[in-house]
Amino acid sequence: MANVCLVTGGAGFIGSHLCLRLFDQGDHVLCLDNFFTGRIENFNSRYRELVTSGRFEIIRHDVIEPILLEVDRIYHLACPASPVHYQVNPVKTIKTNVLGTYHMLGLAKRVGARILLASTSEVYGDPQVHPQHEGYWGHVNPNGIRSCYDEGKRVAETLACDYHRQHKVQIRIARIFNTYGPHMAMDDGRVVSNFICQALRDEPITVYGQGEQTRSFCYVSDLVDGLCRLMDSDYVEPVNLGNDSEITILQLVETIGRILGRPLRLERKPLPADDPARRRPDLTRARTILGYEPRVSLEEGLRHTIAYFKAVLGDSVSASHPQAVVV
Ligand code: NAD
Ligand code: UDP
Repeated sequence: MANVCLVTGGAGFIGSHLCLRLFDQGDHVLCLDNFFTGRIENFNSRYRELVTSGRFEIIRHDVIEPILLEVDRIYHLACPASPVHYQVNPVKTIKTNVLGTYHMLGLAKRVGARILLASTSEVYGDPQVHPQHEGYWGHVNPNGIRSCYDEGKRVAETLACDYHRQHKVQIRIARIFNTYGPHMAMDDGRVVSNFICQALRDEPITVYGQGEQTRSFCYVSDLVDGLCRLMDSDYVEPVNLGNDSEITILQLVETIGRILGRPLRLERKPLPADDPARRRPDLTRARTILGYEPRVSLEEGLRHTIAYFKAVLGDSVSASHPQAVVV
């Protein structure tokens, strides 16, 4: 059955893919965004079809203010996700996480909507348990430079659980691990977008610290599949979503270099404070309860992402590196 779906942060990286997926399955999509890191260009390729369908609306709004909309489902993604972006205005980041989630839970309660919160692997902080399972409470600095995001998301989870216990709101909590793909912003600061753009511009690759820290990278279509499965389920506890293939940051550089067919120059930079040393999701719960399985390999996902950034960066790159991308 088609639903009226509100996607907060809908013009952002993950949100734009989610909006398109919901639209394609026949839902009526309300894409709400304050356009801090989101971009209307993320809908360029489908814009005419979307606006003429009568099933796609864009609402410019900041979730730190309340809003009343008649909807069946709320996918609450609004929040900058890159450390560079969420640290620009940390007070705003925590307001977005706390007040924004409070307003969306209030809306869900008022109109009887089901709400999915986009939480994060950052609730585990710099984890002392590996891989991270949902029962682990985390190892989080409460007053460091990442805290506005990490602790903000932890409070957002608390709020969601209390609205469920106290007001019977139907909640879903997705703990999203590092996700990448087309529609990431070029100046985003996250490792995949940074490395690909640097490589395509023939700039040195900025490796923070020794590059031995690990992450597990999930391609965006797999993540969106997990979000939809979770929303459709009746499961209210948090669920990890991501890909459990773990690599070091130096291995990520090697993989991008292999796809581009040339070695990449490195530039070492200091490791940022509170940067987690290891991260890999335990996906047992997602597999068992949702039948979730990430399907896109890192190499395949990187090829799609490189092709996207090559198109965005345009002719200047292809002129200086005609051999740069193999897709
Ligand atoms: P993004 O920055 O591309 O998207 C966030 C969107 O939220 C943007 O469109 C931005 O303009 C919007 N936004 C920010 N503050 C807002 C506000 N106050 N009111 C309305 N809109 C606002 O980031 P993303 O990677 O697409 O992340 C989406 C969600 O997924 C975030 O909640 C993030 O915490 C979560 N998440 C992402 C990752 C990842 O690896 N991409 C990992 C863990 C969690
Ligand atoms: N990183 C890096 N160079 C960059 C950007 C990031 O070495 O240009 C490292 C960063 O220190 C971290 C990892 O890559 O260890 C992932 O960083 P990102 O900001 O993408 O995500 P997060 O730290 O939130 O997982």
